Amino acid sequence: MIRKVTRSPQQTEELGAKLASVLKGREMIAMFGDLGAGKTAFTRGLCAGLGISDGVCSPTFAIVNAYSGKYPVYHFDMYRITDADDLFATGYYDYIGNGVIIIEWSENIESELEPDCIRIRISKTESENERIFEIEGLDDYADVIC
Ligand code: ADP
Ligand code: MG
Repeated sequence: MIRKVTRSPQQTEELGAKLASVLKGREMIAMFGDLGAGKTAFTRGLCAGLGISDGVCSPTFAIVNAYSGKYPVYHFDMYRITDADDLFATGYYDYIGNGVIIIEWSENIESELEPDCIRIRISKTESENERIFEIEGLDDYADVIC
């Protein structure tokens, strides 16, 4: 597991961009963490790393936003997904393997995540602008990401 502390939204975006640099284009990235943890900030940085600059925000109502950069990116927010029918209706299963899938609120679809997905847990600390990132599934790239 890779552990990384960020101390500003900018540092979180930089971490996202570094992670983007090791992607091959078909990965699933499952983020876990509360409201305000930095899931969208991280996604914004990851997208920037893939050449996507336009308005990355939480697709809370849309459920999925599609972006086009070095690879296609499908950005999910599973906050409102409560059952299997909901998830199916988003097209989730059709997107798998066709681009980078990055997911906010993975807690809500844990049993439907790909077994080999990259898992990122983001935690707040006592310091207002500090976030702890615990990244599973990219140990081979630890020197690039840290
Ligand atoms: P989420 O998508 O997890 O709900 P956002 O990325 O939308 O979270 O928001 C994170 C909030 O926390 C923003 O208001 C941002 O300014 C703030 N913040 C403070 N420190 C950090 C940090 N180190 N990394 C990311 N966001 C931070
Ligand atoms: Mg968000």
